[in-house]
Amino acid sequence: MDEILLMLPGPTTVHPRVLNAMSQAVVNHRGAKYGEILTETSELMSDVFQTSNQSYLLTGSGTAAMEAAISNVVNSGEKILNVVGGKFGERFMKIANAHGITTEELAVEWGTAVTPEAIKAALDADEDIKAVSVVHNETSTGVAAPIEAIGKVMKDYDALYIVDTVSSLGGDYVDVDKFGIDVCITGSQKCIAAPPGMAAITLSDDAWAAADKVDSHTFYLDMQAAKKSGDKNPPQTPYTPSVSLTYAMNEALKMVMEEGLENRVARHHKAAKASVAASKALGLELFADEKVSSATVTAVKMPEGVTDAEFRGTTRDKYGVELAGGQDHLKGNIFRIGHMGNISYKELVQTFAAIGMTLKGLGAIEDAGAGVASITESYL
Ligand SMILES: *Cc1c(COP(=O)(O)O)cnc(C)c1O
Repeated sequence: MDEILLMLPGPTTVHPRVLNAMSQAVVNHRGAKYGEILTETSELMSDVFQTSNQSYLLTGSGTAAMEAAISNVVNSGEKILNVVGGKFGERFMKIANAHGITTEELAVEWGTAVTPEAIKAALDADEDIKAVSVVHNETSTGVAAPIEAIGKVMKDYDALYIVDTVSSLGGDYVDVDKFGIDVCITGSQKCIAAPPGMAAITLSDDAWAAADKVDSHTFYLDMQAAKKSGDKNPPQTPYTPSVSLTYAMNEALKMVMEEGLENRVARHHKAAKASVAASKALGLELFADEKVSSATVTAVKMPEGVTDAEFRGTTRDKYGVELAGGQDHLKGNIFRIGHMGNISYKELVQTFAAIGMTLKGLGAIEDAGAGVASITESYL
């Protein structure tokens, strides 16, 4: 099997339109042509973030944007509240620690979502908290946090609201301005369905004001440097950007807007619902609390007696479908189906056929086709 269907929570399958866009000639990144493409791509990025503020492209993976988000608006010695309910929440806290920022962990059981009330209580208990970090879609557990409701709570406090939408923007509902998000970040290789290697960030006026007072940011990810270069004529980035990935992001974001944000979010929610139903139809148990389960990735418990290596090895090598495993203590205990980007019933039929055949082959289930039958019902 030469073509493997990527059903990962990133990277996701890249459309030929985007791959073709990437093959355009590399131009001078300080010239007018790049300035035009950078401006257009940044504007498209703001459209997808749903913000009237400027967005910035960063050459680097999503983690670069996570580091930019924290290090530009919180000084070392200041305090941040990190919501930690999985791998990526934990990463925000590690980044803050690496910058000498005092961290307060709001621990959430993996597989469940933080509540706005818990954030309110933490802010009431400690007025020194300068910022709160929340991961919208905790990719490691398949949980979506209620970022709109949290935003309503945050409006009553001075603390900045930092949100990671790396695995949700372009797949689940994100409205940066409406939700009152001060710093929002995303990555190229998840729901936006461009190749990995680029990230984006947008900052509110309050976040820029905080950035003015921070003297400890990283050099490469200094947002004031990004702003200064972005304001030049023609607009630029401080250091050499990935010109090819800028083309890719430009085309991928155009595809997002052509489909329409609302349609795209609805399509992802439909895929999530169908994946949950099909998993259950196969007799599988979900890892995440269903009330808060993600629109873009479904985490499923590994059936008793089945190992991760034989399960995911077979779906990939025999049936051509690449699924994700669990991370940290969930390694071997769950598998994850990424249904982000350009996913519809076709990919889900193939995915659930692969899962069903693999599990039947391993003697874990009786009816190999129950998942596929469920998908067809969901999409009828
Ligand atoms: C993928 C992801 C990131 C960034 O990971 P990179 O590997 O650096 O691109 C950050 N946050 C979340 C929620 C993610 O899913």
